[in-house]
Amino acid sequence: MKETLAMMKSFFSDVWRYRKELKKQDGWIKQFAKKKGYSVNPHWMIYTNLKIWLIQSEKMFGKRYCPCFEPSGDPELDKKLICPCAFVKEETENNGTCHCTLFGRAGLSSAEFKKAESRLMEEYQGVALDIKNGALDTRGMPINGPRGLQVPDALHQTKRALSLMNGNLSRVIVSTQAEAGHLVLLGKSKGLDPTITSENGCFVVELAPTRRL
Ligand code: SF4
Repeated sequence: MKETLAMMKSFFSDVWRYRKELKKQDGWIKQFAKKKGYSVNPHWMIYTNLKIWLIQSEKMFGKRYCPCFEPSGDPELDKKLICPCAFVKEETENNGTCHCTLFGRAGLSSAEFKKAESRLMEEYQGVALDIKNGALDTRGMPINGPRGLQVPDALHQTKRALSLMNGNLSRVIVSTQAEAGHLVLLGKSKGLDPTITSENGCFVVELAPTRRL
């Protein structure tokens, strides 16, 4: 309940903040779907959320990476993750929708989109976060087959943990330097002053409040 309320509050504040950019996202999404013969997710809330995540991804990384996967640090794979990604055709054909449920097979019904959204929500919200003593360990999540990347990724897990813990998350453990770098960007955007250390083959991001002079 607490998590849902926090998500709703953040969602509506983002809808207002990105109101102009949301219209721009709408333009290319509908054009692409028309050209390829896909349907677009008909549910306003998830559709708007996906557009918000695309906007935030572009602001954070300079490119419109998939709302569901942070860039991996491997340039070849990352090129494939730019939305519309290299997996959209195969996923809509095989599963009905792309991974994030933004695009669907032509004529996909509202109920089928809903089913795909439930699967997506389960992947991101159904999983228990590994939090101990104010530290989140993001490793060991299931791997998405076509991309070979964790679901949920370290960035989504950290955003969720920050919201659940009212910002009282002191450190995050990740597997790769790219993930650690993204958490530094995230921390800075929230007025924190994160630092990275390397420990036993993983990276630890300390999230500390910005020091005032
Ligand atoms: S899975 Fe869907 S939303 Fe994600 S990048 Fe691919 S086409 Fe875009």
